[in-house]
Amino acid sequence: MALYNLPAHELGNKLRKKEVSSVELTRGFLNRIAEVEPEIGAFVTLCGETALESAALVDAKIGRGEPIAPLAGIAGAIKDILCIKGVKTTCSSHILDNFIAPYDATVIAKLKQNDAVFIGKANMDEFAMGSTTETSYFKKTKNPWALDCTPGGSSGGSAASVAAGEAAWSLGSDTGGSIRQPASFTGTVGLKPTYGRVSRYGCVAFASSLDQVGPITRDVTDCALVLNAISGHCEHDSTSYNLAAPDFTKALTPDIKGMKIGVPKEYFGAGLDKMVEEKVRGAIKHLSGLGAEIVDVSLPHTEYAVATYYIIAPAEASANLARFDGVKYGYRAPGCRNLIEMTVKTRTQGFGNEVKRRIMLGTYVLSSGYYDAYYNKAMKVRTLIIEDFKKVFGKVDILACPTAPTTALPLGSMLDPLSIYMLDVYTIPVNMAGLPGISLPCGFSGGKPVGLQLIGRALDEMSVLRAAYTYEQSAGFHKTAAPLGGVSA
Ligand code: GLN
Repeated sequence: MALYNLPAHELGNKLRKKEVSSVELTRGFLNRIAEVEPEIGAFVTLCGETALESAALVDAKIGRGEPIAPLAGIAGAIKDILCIKGVKTTCSSHILDNFIAPYDATVIAKLKQNDAVFIGKANMDEFAMGSTTETSYFKKTKNPWALDCTPGGSSGGSAASVAAGEAAWSLGSDTGGSIRQPASFTGTVGLKPTYGRVSRYGCVAFASSLDQVGPITRDVTDCALVLNAISGHCEHDSTSYNLAAPDFTKALTPDIKGMKIGVPKEYFGAGLDKMVEEKVRGAIKHLSGLGAEIVDVSLPHTEYAVATYYIIAPAEASANLARFDGVKYGYRAPGCRNLIEMTVKTRTQGFGNEVKRRIMLGTYVLSSGYYDAYYNKAMKVRTLIIEDFKKVFGKVDILACPTAPTTALPLGSMLDPLSIYMLDVYTIPVNMAGLPGISLPCGFSGGKPVGLQLIGRALDEMSVLRAAYTYEQSAGFHKTAAPLGGVSA
C-alpha cells in the first residue's frame, strides 16, 4: 500500500526504524496533494515549506538517536478554524480571508511539542456552520469515495484530506456533529471528546457551550494518539477540565466481553436510510458476537434536540460573531464614512448567507421579547436531553447507533438548509450533553461509507475507544482506501 494510505502510527514505526525519513514522507504527502488536490479541494492554505522544515528537525533528532513522540514527523491537516501562529486562519470566510493568527491554539502548541508536521489548513463550512463544507467562501470539497458527493461538514476538508491520502491525520471541530458526520461520510474515524477534555483556546468560537476540537484519522489507534497529544487542562480555557488525561492508547485492547452497549430506539426512526440501518444493526450484532451485551434503551427527548440546537447554537454564535465588525479582525469594507456604515457594510459583504441566517436567528431568540419563549425554553429542553443520557448511562456503558441517517449527499444539497439541519439528529444530542462520541466505518452502501457512532459517559473516552478498536480490528473496514474516482489510488 502507498505510504500516504498508511495510518500515522505505522508511518511512525517506519520513521523510527529509519525505513523512511520525515522529509521523504512529507514530500510524499505534498506530491499526493499536487496529484489529487485539483479534484478533491480539501485545503484552503498549504504549508509545504514549513512542513518540510519541521520534518527536517525530526530527521535531525532521529539522526542524533533521540527518542521521538508518536506523531513526530507525520503530516496532519488542521481545520482552518484553529490558529497556527503566522498562518492564515480564515474559517473559510471572506471576513477572515486575510487574517493571520498571532498565536498558536493550545492544541497546536501541544502538537508542536510533539514535533507534528502541519501540511495545511483544511477547508470547512464558513465558521463551521453547515454539514456539507459547501458554505465555504473558497471552494467545494469533494468526497474521495464519490466525487459527485460532499465529504460532509463542517470539517469536510479535514476528513477528505485523510480519506484521499493528502494527510495522515487531521483535526476538526464538532459543535453539532462536524467531526463525526464527515468521518462517517468519508470512511474515516472521528472523535468528539468530552466537552472540556480538549482546550478551545485558539479555536474560533462558534457556539462556546458545544464546541470541541478532536481528531479525524484513518483508524482508532491514530485517534487515541492524536487525543493523547491534544487533551488536558489549559489555563486559557476556563471550561477545560482540571485533571490529567489518561493515556488513551491503554484503551486499545480488543476486548469488550461483558461491556453493556445500549441501542437507543429513537436513533432508528423515520428518515433513517434502510441500507444505513442495515449496516449499523449489522455492526451492533458484530459487537454482540465479540462479547458485548446489547440492551434496548430509550432517549425520549431526542426528537427535540435539533430544534433546541438551532436556538442555542445560533444564540451563542450571534454573540461570538459580534467581534467581526471591521475594526480588529480581517476584512474591512472599503470607502465607509462612519463607524455604523463600516460595521454594516463589513458584515454584509464579509459573511455568507448561512452565517447571516444564524446571526439573525440567534439575535432574534435572544431579544428581550422572545428570550423566555425560545432561549430559556431551549435551555430547559437541553437539561431534559442531558437527563435522558444520565438515566441510560446508569444501565449501560456506551451507546451504539448511526452517526448520520444517510451516506454522503450529492453536491448541491445545501440548497435546502432545513433538510440538511435534520442530518444532525444523531450527533447533536451528544454535544448538548457534552459527551464523547466516535464515528467509525461499519460498511458501505452504493460504494459510499456508512458510519457507526459510539457514545460514552462524560470523560469515558476509554470505553468508547476500546469498543471502537475492538470492532475495527475485527471488522477491518479501515483498511480499504478511497478509490478517488478516476484519479490513481
Ligand atoms: N451541522 C451543524 C451546524 O450546521 C453542526 C456544525 C458543527 O458541528 N460545527 O451547525
